[in-house]
Amino acid sequence: DGIWRLSKLAVSVQNDPGKDFLGVSDGLLQEIAKAIKFPVASMLPPGAFSVIRKSFDARKMLKEAKFVYTVDMNVSELINLEPRTIDFISDLEPRVGLIEHMPLERVSGDIISIIQGCKKVEGERLLKEGGISDYSCNAGTYKYTGSRKPKIAVVGSGPSGLFASLVLAELGADVTLIERGQPVEQRGRDIGALMVRRVLELESNFCFGEGGAGTWSDGKLVTRIGRNSDSVLAVMKTLVHFGAPGNILIDGKPHLGTDRLVPLLRNLRQNLQEQGVSIKFGTRVDDLIIEDGHVVGVKVSDSRDQQKLDCHKLGFDAVILAVGHSARDIYHMLLSHDIDLIPKDFAVGLRIEHPQELINSVQYSSLSTEVHRGRGKIPVADYKVASYVSREDGKTPSSSGPTSRSCYSFCMCPGGQVVLTSTDPSELCINGMSFSRRASKWANAALVVTVSTQDFNSLDFHGPLAGIDFQREFERRAAIMGGGDFVVPVQTVTDFLDGKFPVTSLPPSSYRLGVKAAKLHELFPMHITDALRHSVSVFDKELPGFISNEALLHGVETRTSSPIQIPRSSDTYESLSLKGLYPVGEGAGYAGGIVSAAVDGMHAGFAVAKRFGLFLDGI
Ligand code: FAD
Repeated sequence: DGIWRLSKLAVSVQNDPGKDFLGVSDGLLQEIAKAIKFPVASMLPPGAFSVIRKSFDARKMLKEAKFVYTVDMNVSELINLEPRTIDFISDLEPRVGLIEHMPLERVSGDIISIIQGCKKVEGERLLKEGGISDYSCNAGTYKYTGSRKPKIAVVGSGPSGLFASLVLAELGADVTLIERGQPVEQRGRDIGALMVRRVLELESNFCFGEGGAGTWSDGKLVTRIGRNSDSVLAVMKTLVHFGAPGNILIDGKPHLGTDRLVPLLRNLRQNLQEQGVSIKFGTRVDDLIIEDGHVVGVKVSDSRDQQKLDCHKLGFDAVILAVGHSARDIYHMLLSHDIDLIPKDFAVGLRIEHPQELINSVQYSSLSTEVHRGRGKIPVADYKVASYVSREDGKTPSSSGPTSRSCYSFCMCPGGQVVLTSTDPSELCINGMSFSRRASKWANAALVVTVSTQDFNSLDFHGPLAGIDFQREFERRAAIMGGGDFVVPVQTVTDFLDGKFPVTSLPPSSYRLGVKAAKLHELFPMHITDALRHSVSVFDKELPGFISNEALLHGVETRTSSPIQIPRSSDTYESLSLKGLYPVGEGAGYAGGIVSAAVDGMHAGFAVAKRFGLFLDGI
């Protein structure tokens, strides 16, 4: 009796209905039968199995590309099938090599919202930490028992701010969500004006506005913080609750695409408002109000008023700072209050774009005809490459460690486009986005090299904000190389490797505001260029065809992750230098993507709730 998990069930492309089918096909039943040594696959009831994960594996070492499944098997349904199976079941355990966990406690079926998910997550965490004394175990709901609701400001409506707000609203706090940018409807129009008329709204663009930096993005939901952890699962289920397709819970490389993110955010906003969250769009936090070493509020202004003429003071019991890593003004403001900021390594480089068909054929060979621009049986091909280079000469190092740096592809957008992520017209930086079908003709990815304090110092940038100065320097150089008006400097990979100024015509680019041929090999310090060159050659061995006249490098990619970390307590999430301030998400240096930022915001929400005695019952 119970649920048993079967993994690594591989079904050939021929025998699988394709990437969009997440049920139990005949092909999968046959693999299950083989795995559990059940003699007749057609006798297995499909209802006894549910697909937990489905990935496409086209690695070169395989003889044939396959869909790979993880499946849960409900043993009691098999027993009900017919009497003879009982013998089979009792005999099963010693025979099944592929069964991983027996029996598996199924994640309690219907966690449909963040809070239901988090009750479990946080409950378990607090139990482990002995934090149970703050919580009563009787009523089965959350309740706040203080004399008045704590007033919490959440600054920033990216994934971290949204999830912190959700948790706190549900737990009974009086939440005000403050966002310098616009709601997604207006933000869409502002981004449209940027793409068509080259008007950069300083406060409503690819980085700022409802949903944060990842809204006009590929919406990749892969994360390095543990795909199967309860926290990640709670976030993913919440996204489904607010409108993401259920397949993100199963797909091995889930992604949403901008077209799905926008309606999801609208639903989330409505839910927050129904729970009493006051959302202030177009409102920028300019300063913190501090009394006796404690934050007691924020100063805000209308974000479209550049003169900050009309500044308001708002009082709060705590401030969650979820501003992302493009809010450079906030770092300066924090520094003016002597709040600890620690420079952090990050990565810089260029964005490479190939025709998607080229990447499909490099990855899938003859199977590439099955892609059909996102409508075919197999997913639009992506890639992920990485290498180490020596710090001194950019060549292969003798070992990884302090004398080496890593160079890797980042934020690969299959079937996507290159977009402008500048927040200041004198600076130029780019990133990638896509729609859910990933149907465009292009594949783009950042190719970046890690940089650290040593690199910042070598350009005479010092102090806690040296990383930002370093980013700015190359964003400005790129803007100059492009000649202004957000035109992006580009160079073919072959010319970049040869150090040649392009004489032939350029391959097309998905970037909508225009590209200009440039000597990108002169943009970064030589050791960074050398590292990129060396890595590109290494990547070409792994992905033959990566070096191509059709591959176009775009400059520059600088905002891969935060250049700063704001130190905070690992238990309470409170800043170590200012009471009442809770730095969270990517801007604070604790996340590196949509899912990890959401998880960080969620945990911070619980930490703040705990601090104010918002009780969690029934755990
Ligand atoms: P953010 O999302 O940056 O949100 C911060 C919010 O705070 C913003 O909305 C900003 O307007 C607001 N804010 C800033 N300062 C103030 C202030 N002073 N007052 C009020 N509000 C303020 N990650 C992935 O995992 N998958 C992807 O596919 C992916 N693609 C990306 C594509 C693009 C084009 C970009 C730019 C990023 C992409 N990322 C992706 C990264 C991802 O978006 C971030 O890691 C994530 O959004 C960080 O979340 P956050 O909540 O910490 O901050």
